[in-house]
Amino acid sequence: MPALDATLQQKIARLEAEQRLRRLHETAVEEGAWVMRGGRRLLNFSSNDYLGISQHPQVKAAAQGAVGRYGAGAGASRLVTGNHPLYAELETALARHKSTEAALVFGSGYLANVGAITALMGRSDLILADKLAHACILDGARLSGAKLLRFAHNDAADCARLLAAHRASHGQCLVITETVFSMDGDTAPLADLRTICDQYDAWLMTDDAHGLGQLLPVPVEVQMGTLSKAFGAYGGYVCGSSTLIRYLASSARSFIFTTGLPPATIAAAIAALKVMHNEPERLRIPLQRARQFTDALGLPPAQSQIVPLVIGSEEQALKASQRLEEAGFLVSAIRPPTVPEGTSRLRFSFSSLHEDCDISNLIKVIKNENIGA
Ligand SMILES: *Cc1c(COP(=O)(O)O)cnc(C)c1O
Repeated sequence: MPALDATLQQKIARLEAEQRLRRLHETAVEEGAWVMRGGRRLLNFSSNDYLGISQHPQVKAAAQGAVGRYGAGAGASRLVTGNHPLYAELETALARHKSTEAALVFGSGYLANVGAITALMGRSDLILADKLAHACILDGARLSGAKLLRFAHNDAADCARLLAAHRASHGQCLVITETVFSMDGDTAPLADLRTICDQYDAWLMTDDAHGLGQLLPVPVEVQMGTLSKAFGAYGGYVCGSSTLIRYLASSARSFIFTTGLPPATIAAAIAALKVMHNEPERLRIPLQRARQFTDALGLPPAQSQIVPLVIGSEEQALKASQRLEEAGFLVSAIRPPTVPEGTSRLRFSFSSLHEDCDISNLIKVIKNENIGA
């Protein structure tokens, strides 16, 4: 047998030497924002369940009900027999929620990005993506075979410059950005990007994975999002015109060649959407908490519920994360390749499950320990 393990051992040793070997940590959700990890009870500031919806009684009950009615799995791909009745209900509700004609649910946000981008773009086309765009946007762009260029982060003028230089020599053009950036928490200049796209005959695509379900301020042809974060469930979606959706359902390979999501997952997403509509006050809390945090620490005012505290080196970021853990707070250190070299950071994500005093206690520890100072 060829020595697979021996080769991999070398690669692992290299990762370990670079402090880039990742380990899984068992984490069990308790009540509220509390989790158990390594035998300790910690307050979680690293969850993307920003609205606490994964724990909502109505959402859990909806998932349990769907298991009872339809079983544990979808049994086939959606185009075969896996398209259980809950899908149409969710897609109608999502389209209405986003004020688009139609929606298509994919197996995950990752699969939605890869599937939509590869279905829309090909070898003679041009993709412009924000410098900080998520890995799965880049994977989709690379897999499509289109020419991929990156514009400076949130810099519409740089995007225009690239379009001026490269647009004419390509067929179709797609500009892709995130609405709320996953590791920086800042928001994209969508109005400016819209204007530029119109000027250069380019389509606009947004990734709203870290949005809390708000409407976008401008029309966007391809609105991708996930059901795995603020929705508290799992899955991804694309919202847009009914023509776009009809086309994707016949062309996106990550939609076609995979099994439908379990009924419980879709039922949970439907219930999550209802919670967002019925409890709008819930949607305002994460940003309020984030602002409380940035105000107290003299950081630039939070633009979303995600706040980075850039530390610099990987080692220092890991140390800061460990110190917070010792004080009872779970705040992950984010390191390359997730973020650029030299910008290792603590990423705080605030949720509607956090109490006022949770935030003030966290601030106290950060000040006392001089973290990020
Ligand atoms: C998490 C994330 C995704 C992937 O969504 P999943 O549903 O977790 O696969 C896509 N884009 C961005 C920006 C994300 O943060």
